[in-house]
Amino acid sequence: MKFGGTSVKDGKSILHCANLVKKFAENNEVVVVVSAMAGVTDALLNAASKCISESSAAYVKMFVADMMKRHYEAVDHAVKNEDIKIKVISTLEKLFDDLEKVLLGISYLGELTKRSEDYIVSFGERLLAPIFSATLISLGLDSVALTGGDAGIITDKNYGRAKPIPGVYSIIKSRLDPLLRIKKTVPVVTGFIGVTEDGSITTLGRGGSDYTASIIAAALDADEVWLWKEVDGIMTADPKFVPNSKLIPEISYAEAMELSHFGAKILHPKALEPLIAKKIPVRIKNTFNPDALGTVISDKVEGKGDVVKALSIIEKSSIVNISGAGFDFAEIMADIFRRLAENKVNVIMVAQSSSELNLSIVVDAKDSERAYNALKGLENGVTNVKKIENVSIISAVGAGMAGTPGVAGRIFSALGKNGINIVMISQSCSEYNISFAIDNKDGIKALRVIHDEFNLGS
Ligand code: ASP
Ligand code: MG
Repeated sequence: MKFGGTSVKDGKSILHCANLVKKFAENNEVVVVVSAMAGVTDALLNAASKCISESSAAYVKMFVADMMKRHYEAVDHAVKNEDIKIKVISTLEKLFDDLEKVLLGISYLGELTKRSEDYIVSFGERLLAPIFSATLISLGLDSVALTGGDAGIITDKNYGRAKPIPGVYSIIKSRLDPLLRIKKTVPVVTGFIGVTEDGSITTLGRGGSDYTASIIAAALDADEVWLWKEVDGIMTADPKFVPNSKLIPEISYAEAMELSHFGAKILHPKALEPLIAKKIPVRIKNTFNPDALGTVISDKVEGKGDVVKALSIIEKSSIVNISGAGFDFAEIMADIFRRLAENKVNVIMVAQSSSELNLSIVVDAKDSERAYNALKGLENGVTNVKKIENVSIISAVGAGMAGTPGVAGRIFSALGKNGINIVMISQSCSEYNISFAIDNKDGIKALRVIHDEFNLGS
């Protein structure tokens, strides 16, 4: 079971989540994975960069005091037993002491490496795990708090985006199995963080706690992974934009992955990888509506008929277009993507016409200037680079689209009938996903039009 963000925003919520664990731990062996309290990861990153730009010991003291207040208040509300409270507070005191030291170190040096950034950001999870575990103990359960490293999540040294090393499953199993089977305890593991073989803390990438949960589940051959969120599950479209959107009770790994890559921020895109080979289902559950069944993500083949199952939208995107006459495409393509990779631009979508005169690349709006500058150097009188801002990307996802004729036809004629102009289209041959770009002003309308066209609503 993984809890994060808003589900653990304060002491009251932490106690609520711990009670959920207690309820299900009666008849199951449970490993808990926690991420940081809502907003803490961002606050830590922000503090780290502030320490280099305007270093001041007073700022560090104030920041740490603020963190202390938040976490001690959480302990106060969540942990009901005085002895346990004193114990967890002394654990936290040591952590705050370390946090203060490292932040002061950064401000004196005026230098922040990727490695020290991972170390600083790890405090969010390392502070919450002992609090969550203490809460379970005060509810009468046996529990122990572990860091990702304690739990056996050994990674490479790619700080900020570390990957577990091969063989990690057997290490995790050897650490956690005895706790579950022999000691009958509930381990509470920090999500998001791992450790290198020589003992430095790493992180798995933003939102990585889901990934931690699935790595552990795969290592232990768990029956299910439960990701506790603030929503009932995966919806046919974001209810913020499409009021009659509906909960999807079952969805395949492939479809869920398409959605998570395309802006439906329901789970970390990498989180399904470890589970697919082992066919371990994921259940998305609502912390605030725990009796709802949620969405189950599994390898079950989807019934035919569900051609378009869900829609997602990425607002705030931009297109960079490279056009020219008679260039050697293989060569220029290699150059284009090398430049984008070197400038750390994430490519969301690509389209190329078979005339080979044109290549369109969609990037996040915040990357568009960087992408444009990276590619401008290709201009030579024949080749032109152009930027189109303010586009939205809509993606229609469904395994049933594969081999079903007419789906694209329905999507595009529905848009046409409603006067919505399409700027760019892409569909890979997995046929699980048709994506297209439109002007921002049409984004929500287009979402509703397609949702209606396929009767996805309630
Ligand atoms: N706390 C980390 C983050 O905000 C990891 C997570 O939330 O899963 O990115
Ligand atoms: Mg988070």
